[in-house]
Amino acid sequence: HSLKNSRRAADNEPLLRFREAKKVLGDVYGELKDNVAELEGVYKDIKENDFVSSEQREEIEAIGDSIKTIMDTFQRDNMKVVFFGRTSNGKSTTINAMLHEKVLPQGMGHTTCCFLQVEGSEGEVGHLQLDDNPQKIDMKMLGKIGHALSDENSDLPAMGQDSLLKVFHPKKSESGECRLLQNDVVILDSPGVDLSPEFDSWIDKHCLDADVFVLVSNAESTLTQAEKNFFLRVAKKLSKPNVFILNNRWDASAAETENIEDVKKQHLTRFRQFLVDELEVCSEREVNDRIFFVSSREVLESRLKARGLVQKAYQAEGHGTRALEFQNFERHFEHCISRSAIHTKFEAHNRRAHEMIGKMRLNLNSVLTSAAEQRSKLQNNLNESTRTFNECRVNFTQFEKAYREQTEQLRAEVHLKVSADFFE
Ligand code: GDP
Repeated sequence: HSLKNSRRAADNEPLLRFREAKKVLGDVYGELKDNVAELEGVYKDIKENDFVSSEQREEIEAIGDSIKTIMDTFQRDNMKVVFFGRTSNGKSTTINAMLHEKVLPQGMGHTTCCFLQVEGSEGEVGHLQLDDNPQKIDMKMLGKIGHALSDENSDLPAMGQDSLLKVFHPKKSESGECRLLQNDVVILDSPGVDLSPEFDSWIDKHCLDADVFVLVSNAESTLTQAEKNFFLRVAKKLSKPNVFILNNRWDASAAETENIEDVKKQHLTRFRQFLVDELEVCSEREVNDRIFFVSSREVLESRLKARGLVQKAYQAEGHGTRALEFQNFERHFEHCISRSAIHTKFEAHNRRAHEMIGKMRLNLNSVLTSAAEQRSKLQNNLNESTRTFNECRVNFTQFEKAYREQTEQLRAEVHLKVSADFFE
């Protein structure tokens, strides 16, 4: 019953589907682990060099080890989104709006100079970590380390553009829960594309496991070649990546442009062409759910106000429509990231589980075959012994008979001889 309820909830809330899939997969692997342990136990009870070979024992042990490793890995599996675009297009503002909190530093004076990865942490206080270095760094350092000017400050580690600063933000904070982080979404903010990018190393290091890419564009200008080039490389390296385009700062455009609907149409035509014809990452039908005209600043501020974190929220004329458009983006984004992550991450684990079950079946079958061979050999030996025994019995009867006759004859002869001697 509770599984049914959680399934229904997962259908309405796409992000929950990922957790549900993780749980189901956890149950499957748990059962598999128990079966392997049972088989290992049975094999242990059978004498060495009997019908279970050492290779067969080792194979079952190896399967047990793989199961443990996979169970560890998929507990850490997550849904990953990469944000991309020129400096000041509003990447950090968009991420903060989606998190309902000002987690990343933002603003004209701040330029992100390395990759910033936001993920959920269980504790009440967040912390930072440089890539895989386990040393925890105070959250207060975020603005300085991730900032373009950090190299000039000798106290701070020099960060290359493709280096990674992990931001562990509490899943639950004083102002409420963070849905995205709560549900295993990991968000990656990239350095501005205008900062002499090294696309290939960016992609190889940080984007190969991304489920969704969001290009944050500035609605007041068109896509630059650098922005296009990045996605052309991504589309070459990843098969059919999921790309969303956010035309951000739509509030500013709407305020300044008279023929705003024409401008919107123009943008739409260009972006559709880019996604469908140049990148070939979606169809004409899908593309309508991939391009949105939003104001991340308005959404962020109204969400901060709703949480009581600011008194006043910036809102320009037409903000209601833009807010709905932002929510529409989030809905499509959540469906897309959850579907993609379940498909790419869990399908591989599911395939591995099938492979292991296949190997176990072959292993068990060959043990059963050699056990059957041993039994028939024993049966043959038994049959052979019975035949020999029967032959012996026949021989013995014949011998007994012959012996009896001989003795009779001897006795008769002795008797004759004795009588003859007697009468002589
Ligand atoms: P990033 O460099 O791409 O991460 O850009 P930021 O998020 O730091 O934003 C740069 C500046 O643009 C900040 O001052 C934001 O307040 C502002 N900004 C971001 N989104 C919007 C928006 O939708 N409308 C307006 N008017 N300003 C925005």
